[in-house]
Amino acid sequence: MRRTKIVATIGPATDTLPQLEALLLSGVNVVRLNFSHGHSSDHQRRVEMIRDICHRHQLHIAIMGDLQGPKIRIARFTNTKVTLKSGQQFTLDTTLDNDAGDSEQVGIDYPQLIADCELGDELLLDDGRVTMQVIEKTNTSLVCTVINGGPLSNNKGINKKGGGLSAAALTDKDKQDILIAAQLELDYLAVSFPRNAADMHYARELVTASGANCRLVAKIERAEAVANDQVLDELILASDVVMVARGDLGVEIGDAALIATQKKIISRARKLNRVVITATQMMESMIDSPLPTRAEVFDVANAVLDGTDAVMLSAETAAGSYPVETVQAMDRIILGAEQDRSTRESNHRLNREFEQVDETIAMSAMYAANHMPGVKAIICLTESGNTTLLMSRISSGIPIIAMSRHPQTSRRVAMYRGVQTIPFDTGTALNAEVNQRAVESLVERGFVSAGDFVLITKGDYVDAQGGTNTMKLVKVGGEVR
Ligand code: PGA
Ligand code: MN
Repeated sequence: MRRTKIVATIGPATDTLPQLEALLLSGVNVVRLNFSHGHSSDHQRRVEMIRDICHRHQLHIAIMGDLQGPKIRIARFTNTKVTLKSGQQFTLDTTLDNDAGDSEQVGIDYPQLIADCELGDELLLDDGRVTMQVIEKTNTSLVCTVINGGPLSNNKGINKKGGGLSAAALTDKDKQDILIAAQLELDYLAVSFPRNAADMHYARELVTASGANCRLVAKIERAEAVANDQVLDELILASDVVMVARGDLGVEIGDAALIATQKKIISRARKLNRVVITATQMMESMIDSPLPTRAEVFDVANAVLDGTDAVMLSAETAAGSYPVETVQAMDRIILGAEQDRSTRESNHRLNREFEQVDETIAMSAMYAANHMPGVKAIICLTESGNTTLLMSRISSGIPIIAMSRHPQTSRRVAMYRGVQTIPFDTGTALNAEVNQRAVESLVERGFVSAGDFVLITKGDYVDAQGGTNTMKLVKVGGEVR
């Protein structure tokens, strides 16, 4: 059973019911809806299709919306595309007509860029494929020397090396999209380009005001967000999930700095009891090829070894020719990486103090499970899924089974590494009967058989969040009380 989860972005390549059904059945755990593309009616149609497929196949797949954020873009060219030569001059001009770009100048949709840039700053266009340096500034334009030339087409993104763009994380469009996310009852919502914890707190206020009940994902993709350990830790703590958004982050901090940064973000997120996704270009060549490169195989595997909860696919599944093959390849590679012993061992946070009762029980359960050879599964009777989240911060080879009566909890835990879900309504059953039925449902699904041990955690009251205060070790086949 695979522990590390797969997030797949959907788009034109996966937009019909059969395409989407094949994709979800190939092993997707979380679907990403990209609010940078499409109208609200497209998102609604997709959400309805996903829910229908999940219902028919009894899948528990979470849906994550991804806000566009303040991505700064050039405007358009008269002929869609130009080719820039290294060494030539090129001007970014806020007054130029949006469709009037040529090989010497182009419009930009963000006038503030002029004020945010100094002479000598380096701008990276189209994820760094084209770079230029600012040599002259007017009130409305930046004159640049092209450092690395190449093709440049309509609406490509602009980043500034080293960060420092003043754009706020939430645009007016994002605020509209938060309302759509609330209507669609999404499980997760990703905020693009947050600078710090305050941006996430603000996003949370808006999300709460919209009535949405979605967990918040901070996409870490600005140099400011990783400038020092304190800013990063605060940003992680202000979020439920963080994403190592390697596309924009790599452009802002440079690819060499990305390696240690990915490892640091994953490790800090896990230590701070938060969830982490590793994203972008993981299987990029599979956009047009049915097989990954060896480098991609190892990139996915390394993220698994680093401890990520999930790995994400973008254009591979949204616009590629082999979406199903890509998910299948990712599934195979993850399973391979999870054979490595390090993914099952843990230092058990022996040097840490626990803050809450449920955390203490969760940690004790993981310690017991990892040290008693007969334990084959952990059952976690949970309301919000929080106990399974805490448990899954400890590396282990033993499945953590979230049993909840809430469909949203069943979907939410789909993001957590090592956590599986079985819908389970304790109803008005007595304590001993609940344990018995919970173990039986594991046997029915083939997770365990007679003679195995199962750990059960729960609270005294079924509907109390954060109420987990009990751990029990039972033998399958014996009398379970
Ligand atoms: P994007 O974010 O795909 O929305 O740009 C991810 C990244 O920057 O890596
Ligand atoms: Mn990005």
